[in-house]
Amino acid sequence: MSKNSRDQNAFDKAALDYHRQEPKGKIEVIPSKPHSSQRDLSLAYSPGVAVPCMAIHDDPQSVYEYTSKGNLVAVISNGTAVLGLGDIGPEASKPVMEGKGLLFKIFAGINVFDIEINEKDPDKFIETVKAIAPTFGGINLEDIKAPEAFYIEQRLKEELDIPLMHDDQHGTAIISAAALINALEIAGKKIGEVKMVINGAGAAAIACAKLYISLGLDPKNILMCDSKGVINHKRENLTPEKLDFIAQTDISTLEDAVIGSDVFVGLSKGNVMSPDMLLSMASNPIVFALANPDPEISYDLAIETREDVIMATGRSDYPNQVNNVLGFPYIFRGALDVQARGINEAMKLAAVHALAEIAKEPVPEMVKLAYNVRDISFGKEYFIPKPFDNRLITKVSIAVAKAAMESGIAGKSIDNFEEYENQLLD
Ligand code: NAP
Ligand code: MG
Repeated sequence: MSKNSRDQNAFDKAALDYHRQEPKGKIEVIPSKPHSSQRDLSLAYSPGVAVPCMAIHDDPQSVYEYTSKGNLVAVISNGTAVLGLGDIGPEASKPVMEGKGLLFKIFAGINVFDIEINEKDPDKFIETVKAIAPTFGGINLEDIKAPEAFYIEQRLKEELDIPLMHDDQHGTAIISAAALINALEIAGKKIGEVKMVINGAGAAAIACAKLYISLGLDPKNILMCDSKGVINHKRENLTPEKLDFIAQTDISTLEDAVIGSDVFVGLSKGNVMSPDMLLSMASNPIVFALANPDPEISYDLAIETREDVIMATGRSDYPNQVNNVLGFPYIFRGALDVQARGINEAMKLAAVHALAEIAKEPVPEMVKLAYNVRDISFGKEYFIPKPFDNRLITKVSIAVAKAAMESGIAGKSIDNFEEYENQLLD
């Protein structure tokens, strides 16, 4: 057995041990009120509990006052597109959803119920989510296969009035958009002028393309590819989402598409970009090779191939990791704290700009310590914030809450942002 496969085996065993250690799994429910006396119990349950019940019956909005709803997010999946593992089913998706619960809690203090639903039919899935929605202050849809995921999210956004987001689409779009703004600055290029190839046309790629367009990317400058090549006017039987990205060109292969392009965004499969393709791109090429676990081109190979490449991947072991954990905890934190009726474009764009700004500011000592680096500053090797950076909770949550208030979607407003900031740091 090689050293690599021995290391892998040891790591796999550690992952199983981590999960099976008592108490099994990663999440538990803990009562948040005193419960040691008979009187406590009579307040917590019958007869005292009837009083808040009737208060909520009289004023439904007071559910936010008397229950945990306002700080409770459902992480909901049907297990049809789990990580890069595919349709492995609801039970097998549970470790991921529990993991997401752990991240919500440690980074933003948000409680999560992970909900795994045994239903592939989009309409039945939607009905199920709608039926359980009263429990929650927000809903994070997770690891649901495209194209169904587009329809499911669209309808639930229309029919529910709480913050709701399919993180595989919008989380990825938000983080990579922040990375794009900064990478373009480093490359000395303007978003309205660059030519971009997006490899992949799934949940993540479509949402990324839409968000980049709202940041100023010219739709005519995008070539999108799926597993069959460039989405151009010759293609037939395209899904509605792909129809929006038909390019008026005869270029049909990824190889030809990347020639002279300024930006490559990979949300497809590992190792589909060759060194020759990278060499054919314009100067200071921006390459976001985001396929997990293996990027479209590895960081090392890209750097070896071109000195001027500006690179991000989905991996934590290289600079510039595009990782959704930079977004969802804080986007929901801000949205919950103003009881937003949804997560709209203004809130997403606010998160994008807040993230981009953080990376440009001097890096605090505690971040350097957490990552064991002596010096990092804005540049090719650092243009996306790192997950253990406590500026994220304040800057991103505040930006999102303000955007919700300003765009008229907040159910309540925050009057004193200084006080709110201190509360976020507690
Ligand atoms: P998805 O909805 O299943 O979409 C996958 C897309 O990739 C499909 O459009 C598929 O084409 C296309 N594809 C497959 N092989 C291809 C190839 N050889 N060349 C071009 N396109 C190809 O999955 P997703 O959720 O969007 O995720 C896609 C990838 O991005 C995964 O590797 C995932 O791990 C990664 N990702 C990374 C991050 C991050 O933050 N780093 C976030 C989200 C996703 P068809 O439409 O023809 O099937
Ligand atoms: Mg996911």
